[in-house]
Amino acid sequence: MIYADNAATTKMSDAAINKMIEVAKETYGNPSSLYEFGQKAKEALELAREKVACLIGAEPREILFTSGGSEADNQAIRSAAKLGEKAGKKHIISTAFEHHAVLHTLEKLKSEGFEITLLDVHEDGLVRPEEVEQAIREDTCLVTVMFANNEIGTIQPIKQIGEICNRHQVLFHTDAVQAIGHVPVNVADQNIDMLSASAHKFHGPKGVGFLYAKKSIRLSNLIEGGAQERGRRAGTENVPGICAMAEALSEAVANIEKNRDHIEPIRNRIIEGLSEIPHSALNGSREPRLPGNINFCFEGIEGESLLLLLDDKGIAASSGSACTSGSLDPSHVLLAIGRVHDVAHGSLRLSLGEDITDEDADYIISAVKEVVEYLRSFSPVWRNLVAGKGKFIL
Ligand SMILES: *Cc1c(COP(=O)(O)O)cnc(C)c1O
Repeated sequence: MIYADNAATTKMSDAAINKMIEVAKETYGNPSSLYEFGQKAKEALELAREKVACLIGAEPREILFTSGGSEADNQAIRSAAKLGEKAGKKHIISTAFEHHAVLHTLEKLKSEGFEITLLDVHEDGLVRPEEVEQAIREDTCLVTVMFANNEIGTIQPIKQIGEICNRHQVLFHTDAVQAIGHVPVNVADQNIDMLSASAHKFHGPKGVGFLYAKKSIRLSNLIEGGAQERGRRAGTENVPGICAMAEALSEAVANIEKNRDHIEPIRNRIIEGLSEIPHSALNGSREPRLPGNINFCFEGIEGESLLLLLDDKGIAASSGSACTSGSLDPSHVLLAIGRVHDVAHGSLRLSLGEDITDEDADYIISAVKEVVEYLRSFSPVWRNLVAGKGKFIL
């Protein structure tokens, strides 16, 4: 079996699992309790906070632990919107290919009277910093642009966008869920005011993440209750999960270069192999791209059937994001980069992990070639195209 869906979630690392068990067994006190058991848990929690902060160039008090990336996105955007509203600024800039945790929050804000500008991400899947600058207005309170796209893996010019936002005194948030632990992220160097992360995308546990927010930013609560997380997120902290996340992030960050040097050549081998399939195309610019991301469209087939047949061959892949699969709508990301509906339906995302080998790559290439050919052999759309009734797009 080859697991090639690391953008959906990753396998927990041994170090993270061991940490989780150790903390669950030995540090089970409530961090808010004053006796020794509680204080031990509090110490573990704060050590994790220091670790995470240090790994992204932040201060410990700028890290707020959450239940994951979605919650961090919601809280960051809601907080900026509230601050904006107070100052009479109700315009937000984002992009058409954000994760739904961002897009759906923005839709809610729109119904609450905010104006939302979604920037074009062009055929290459890259936001243009100058277009961000052109979109900024007197009443803009937030720019939110993802660090790396979860479907097509393109890495955005975050540092430049952050610099522009700084210059215009507009808050800048980035959903860095796909980037963190995979490419270098440093909030100070990259001019980031707020950042969302999720442990299960870097070999940590599910249901844990964090929001970085510059200390000058007053966050609003999504959850009311106790005074945990400096009063910004009520509820007893998930101490084992948080400690395991810090462990996973340390490991991931320490191995970024080593992992990239291993994964990237294998990714390129697969891209070259799949490019040999007629009427296929890589989605998004080849560079700058996450080391493990491959996303293709194959004309004349359905992505869902492709996935099921690959599953039969022992390959776990995706047609896009886990949130979109199961629905019949084509991916909003592929539509955003200009793929037409028919073509966008025939998509395949492979997101490689550190354990991928050259043999796996060769197997994936031959399996995909075989399955695409098989599906096309009885696809009416494909037959029409071959018969000259209609035009190939790719
Ligand atoms: C997975 C993902 C999220 C959601 O994170 P959860 O921890 O699953 O809530 C948000 N944004 C991006 C880009 C993601 O890939």
